Amino acid sequence: MAKAAKKIIITVDGYSSCGKSTFAKAIARELGYIYIDSGAMYRAVTLFALRRGLAGGGVADEKGILAVVPEISITFRHDPETGFPVTYLNGEMIEREIRDRQVSDNVSAVSTIAGVRARLVELQRAMGAGGGVVMDGRDIGTVVFPDAKLKIFMTASPEVRAQRRYLELMSKGLPADLEAVMRNISERDRIDSTREVSPLRQADDAVVLDNSDMTPGEQMVWFRELYKKRINEG
Ligand code: C5P
Repeated sequence: MAKAAKKIIITVDGYSSCGKSTFAKAIARELGYIYIDSGAMYRAVTLFALRRGLAGGGVADEKGILAVVPEISITFRHDPETGFPVTYLNGEMIEREIRDRQVSDNVSAVSTIAGVRARLVELQRAMGAGGGVVMDGRDIGTVVFPDAKLKIFMTASPEVRAQRRYLELMSKGLPADLEAVMRNISERDRIDSTREVSPLRQADDAVVLDNSDMTPGEQMVWFRELYKKRINEG
């Protein structure tokens, strides 16, 4: 009988709204791995900061946020209906709130704070320690799991990304405006790529996936080839 493949860590990094979570979830489902949305963790901290008046207008109060970090507990609970984890902040389900525009407009500012990143990276490493995990984000292949066996860096044209994000918001019944979505995506990309701590960049050993003109099915065909090759390399 063929030996079961060892459960590895798969990292999926890239620009905002290029379909990372859809792709990462599909991979996790196919391999029977756990999917972890690291962006949801930064969004949860941002929601907490907004509620405390420690962020707003794209500006984050670094000192104030660092002082409340110990009060923040972020957990994921398995949703048996979707098969994927749902985000909780201090025991409250916040999956919907963290996708709101206010959170999207402030999350990149909060994510520049080194102390916030240090805490979340620690949690992310603990979650992935046993392998069998697909984690998506901005610094997963470069900082969180630099030794991961399979790293993917995703990108797509800005127009395609804005359109996808807009449709996603609409389908969730959230208010959306294409121009505003476009502005938010390019502003987050700018801040995420230029920040001092763990900027968004492609890891040297990551494989690039530009999915501008690819269907989800085509992306999975691409992934299966890559996975097979990587696993056979031993
Ligand atoms: O993945 P998502 O778009 O939900 O991430 C929201 C924001 O969280 C990003 O724009 C980025 O500022 C921050 N983030 C990060 N590092 C990660 C994941 C997300 O800085 N690993």
